[in-house]
Amino acid sequence: MNTEIDWGSLSFGYMPTDYNVRCTYKDGKWGEIEVSASPYIPIHIAATGLHYGQEIFEGLKAFRGKDGKVRIFRLDENGKRLQSSAHGLLMEPVPAYLFREMVLMAVKLNERFIPPYGTGASLYIRPVEYGSSAQVGVKPGKEYTFIVFVTPVGPYFKTGFKPTNICIMRQYDRVAPQGTGRWKVGGNYAASLESGEKAHSMGYSAVLFLDPKEKKYLDECGPANFFAIKDGKYITPASDSILPSITNKSLQQIAKDMGIEVEARHITVDELESVTEAGACGTAAVISPVGEIDDLDTGKKYVIAKDGVPGPISTALYNTLRGIQLGDVEDTHGWNTIVEFD
Ligand SMILES: *Cc1c(COP(=O)(O)O)cnc(C)c1O
Repeated sequence: MNTEIDWGSLSFGYMPTDYNVRCTYKDGKWGEIEVSASPYIPIHIAATGLHYGQEIFEGLKAFRGKDGKVRIFRLDENGKRLQSSAHGLLMEPVPAYLFREMVLMAVKLNERFIPPYGTGASLYIRPVEYGSSAQVGVKPGKEYTFIVFVTPVGPYFKTGFKPTNICIMRQYDRVAPQGTGRWKVGGNYAASLESGEKAHSMGYSAVLFLDPKEKKYLDECGPANFFAIKDGKYITPASDSILPSITNKSLQQIAKDMGIEVEARHITVDELESVTEAGACGTAAVISPVGEIDDLDTGKKYVIAKDGVPGPISTALYNTLRGIQLGDVEDTHGWNTIVEFD
């Protein structure tokens, strides 16, 4: 156990850990897994990952429970999504067994960085794959490198589970219609940075992007999915430009388990008028409740959390999902992988 870390005051940032694990696909096959103590990678100056954006990643977390066990949330789902992203960018998909083995290795090798139960902190796991072959012509590479590193991260909400405001800005798109939005591609983030920083400078926590074709439907909320509660139902945008969030998928299942109807469909901006709760969802925060949505182009303000506190359904969904991750609530769907330390 690491005694020098003040777990409660950790941010969502990078802190060095002991080891990372790596594997390269070359000459038509995946090689041996390598364990490295260095946070640097040697990379060819002509690698396709650097020039043509052949780069995809994942983000998942490991939690220590009250019972001392370490649980990784939805390991296999993240592995499947990385494969889907690889297909999207014509990269070599990481086989499920390799993804699983490397994630487990990275967690076990850095056991002393897994935050204790009760601190609100967790171990963030970042798998990343990039094209590593030297190539100047625009075509898919032949060599790929897959790395898994981990870093402890603090509780997302330093001031508690409280709503923040978000905004709509039509002059920016994060992704193209039928583009790379459905895959977890670094470039989608690059495309969201300018508008995101602009929103932050105006006091908003994120941009609520509209569909890039018609600007009529809700799309994603910064680097997170969006959901709302309307007429007691859980509604969430469905389209080809949205990344399938595993948190969203899990919340939809929990909502159904609670007897709440779920609708994944187009949601128009006007519908915000009649929603009673809203949130952004993703691995980092689980749910980031939305207080108010300001449409900066029309001047319209949609006040969602009228009394400044998250709604009852969002709160129940949040507590249940966090509870499952920590082992406090029964994992009825088999979402956790318990790490066996030997
Ligand atoms: C990673 C990501 C999310 C959240 O997905 P989770 O699996 O819930 O962490 C949402 N939107 C985008 C664009 C993302 O990259």
